[in-house]
Amino acid sequence: MTEAPRVHKLRLAVLTSGGDSAGMNAVVRAIVKTAILKGCETYVVREGYEGLVRGNSEAVSVASPPREHNHHQRKESLLVEGDADSFVHNLRFGDGELLRDGTSDHPAGRTLKGRYIVRVGWDDVRGWFTSGGTLIGTARSVAFRTYEGRLTAAHNLIKEGIDAIAVCGGDGSLTGADVFRAEWPKLVAELASTSRITEEQHKAHAHLRIVGLVGSIDNDMSMTDLTIGAPTALHRICEAIDNIDSTASSHSRAFVLEVMGRHCGWLALLAGVSGGADFIFIPERPPEADPWEDEMCRNIQRHREIGKRKTIVIVAEGAHDKHLTPIRADYVKEVLSERLGLDTRVTTLGHTQRGGRPCAFDRILPTLQGVEAVDALLEATPDTPSYMIGIAENKITRVPLMEAVKMTNEVTQAIKDKDFDKAMSLRDPEFRESLDGFYATSILEKEPRLPHHQRMRVAIMHVGAPAGGMNAATRAAVRYCIRQGHKPFAIHNGFPGLLDDNVHQLSWLGVDNWMTRGGSELGTNRKLPEVDMGAIAAKFQQYNFHALMMIGGFEAFTSLLSLENARKYYPAFHIPLVHLPATISNNVPLTEFSLGSDTSLNALVDACDAIKQSASASRNRVFVVETQGGKCGYIATMGALATGACMVYTPETGIDLDMLRNDVKFLKKRFSLDVKGRAEGRLVIKNEVASAVYTTDVITKMFKEEGGKLFDARSASLGHTLQGGIPSPIDRARAVRLSLKCMTFIEEQHAILLKQSSSGKTRQAAPDSAAVITIQGSNVIWVPVQDVVPHADMENRRGLHEHWKPIIGLVEALVARPQIL
Ligand code: ATP
Repeated sequence: MTEAPRVHKLRLAVLTSGGDSAGMNAVVRAIVKTAILKGCETYVVREGYEGLVRGNSEAVSVASPPREHNHHQRKESLLVEGDADSFVHNLRFGDGELLRDGTSDHPAGRTLKGRYIVRVGWDDVRGWFTSGGTLIGTARSVAFRTYEGRLTAAHNLIKEGIDAIAVCGGDGSLTGADVFRAEWPKLVAELASTSRITEEQHKAHAHLRIVGLVGSIDNDMSMTDLTIGAPTALHRICEAIDNIDSTASSHSRAFVLEVMGRHCGWLALLAGVSGGADFIFIPERPPEADPWEDEMCRNIQRHREIGKRKTIVIVAEGAHDKHLTPIRADYVKEVLSERLGLDTRVTTLGHTQRGGRPCAFDRILPTLQGVEAVDALLEATPDTPSYMIGIAENKITRVPLMEAVKMTNEVTQAIKDKDFDKAMSLRDPEFRESLDGFYATSILEKEPRLPHHQRMRVAIMHVGAPAGGMNAATRAAVRYCIRQGHKPFAIHNGFPGLLDDNVHQLSWLGVDNWMTRGGSELGTNRKLPEVDMGAIAAKFQQYNFHALMMIGGFEAFTSLLSLENARKYYPAFHIPLVHLPATISNNVPLTEFSLGSDTSLNALVDACDAIKQSASASRNRVFVVETQGGKCGYIATMGALATGACMVYTPETGIDLDMLRNDVKFLKKRFSLDVKGRAEGRLVIKNEVASAVYTTDVITKMFKEEGGKLFDARSASLGHTLQGGIPSPIDRARAVRLSLKCMTFIEEQHAILLKQSSSGKTRQAAPDSAAVITIQGSNVIWVPVQDVVPHADMENRRGLHEHWKPIIGLVEALVARPQIL
């Protein structure tokens, strides 16, 4: 019989294990908060599995927490919705500072010395978003690898009454979790038979609920697209490449960068793609040629011959050749210097890759995964497998932990067996596509791949406002075109530019530096083709374009629609027409992701971190931060989630007086619950057009007036800073991947039209050859533009369905708004 899920009184502990990664603190924060909201008692285990084994030393005297905080004295659920007392009860058990420093004394007389399993409350994890690494400590535990160690760990958990654990770590840590869960019945039976636990405890703890979250900078876990910490590590690497770029170019130097990744080349690969490297070495796919030195030199020589002044080679620390002989950065340097005569330097990034403030994605992903992890624990029964929380494209997933670990180990084994095809097949599709993308954009081939009759003249245009990743997408399209034998044409300044004949063919070298460039190299324009449809058709004919790729936001979508509608009158538009969404507003209907939105979120997070710090430096203060985003609340909402803001105002929901009255009430209650004498800063994120009447200025003044002595209020408008400077690595990498998908789509549609012409028919493009590339849940889906229309709110220039709307509820839940109110 299956056990009914217990939703109350579950004691849940979270630990971080293995190598630290950015985002681990966000995991702990999300798990602690969600678990409290769902009626659990929450604990953290310090120092990973080592803390589980050490437990809470009986020898150390531990003063009880303040009476109202003493969980042993309570019988009922910790949190009853709407019951403010129970929320207050959960506010603080330790202190954030206390966990940062295991030896300091707590004001209440407690000390963490000798205590590894620590009860924590809501406010103990406040502000944990901004710190890198893990504040609860991590370790590599030899003891936990042994049966005896795990027996002690089980005993310690049972002594604390804990029956659910969430483990955040790499493949080793999750293997440990899997071993622990499989062994659990045996461990508790032994503890009972040796009278270390009572029969009652044995019964109560017959089943251990366990869930894994992957915290690893290598992104080495199978069955998930991304691991927590990998995006931040990629940020650090790309910053280094971007910094090296200018000096490499100035001196015409070569740089060899060694990056982390023992068994997984994700960091090297994505850095290669996003940093526009010339050559990469990853464990899963060693160079084809034997000796590989020839292949590398041939490629780099070709780049140099056409005038490239800089060379970047990226080596994963676990890189090797086909025979598993390690490839080291120093040796690569030697080859480049001796064979090609290049002035070559080696840069080993080492631990700088681990550190630093988590990027926006490493705040959002762990938060969403933390919520899912708690749900998985609450729903776990003895019959369900232990889950690992993953992500596929934009969807948080649960996959059986054991399978994910097994598949990850299989990759390592396949590499050991020199079966590199198998190793690649076991990596997720995004990995494989990124590698194809790297080859397509970095290898300059001697001869085009396609025969003459299949080659096209491809027009590329940026439409609307600039967004990070537009240039990277263009670069990828241009290089792909050249590899195939197509001619890529830039239409500068949108449709008006076309009418002005502002059209130029782009070259392989000409776009070389575009990966890192923000804004739009082609120049954007908001004007739609309606400015003069006939003249535009004539220009299409004049330039004999065989395909058009538009990169942009809502205007690009409406332009595509206009062109498709105009096919009735103008044969020139009977060509493949595609739209790659790129807008910081992320307001293109149906797609959950537009290029530029990640860059924008990072700009927002950076600004808000600084604002929050200043807000809490002197006195209690609320900062109302105004964001762009048109009439779409995506950036404000995701920004609120990524910064831990306590409120978000969106155009979709609007603002009214009742709402503001409640908001003021919430702020007053929340500030009154804070520790006296310690200044706190709180953020409110507001879309600039959320209300025409209740403007940022009005709201700020209202908060200031109402805050009285309790809190002050200030505002800040982020404006165009949200378009970001250098595009984020995620935007760049996605730009390459999606752009190449656009190119493949164009080729497929062109082939259909070629068939028509060869059978003597008039060229008649099908409606689905004018399409938008979208990300929906875990899938990349082409949607014919006419099919997008029913999902579009044309008046407000956004989608009818806001995929991100549930996030507003999550933002409010994570500040316990319903409970506080
Ligand atoms: P990273 O990816 O940063 O190396 P990781 O989680 O893979 O992180 P490991 O050192 O491999 O790091 O594992 C962390 C801890 O997990 C180990 O110190 C050990 O305590 C536990 N562990 C790993 N493998 C096992 C196992 N097979 N059985 C029990 N415990 C294990």
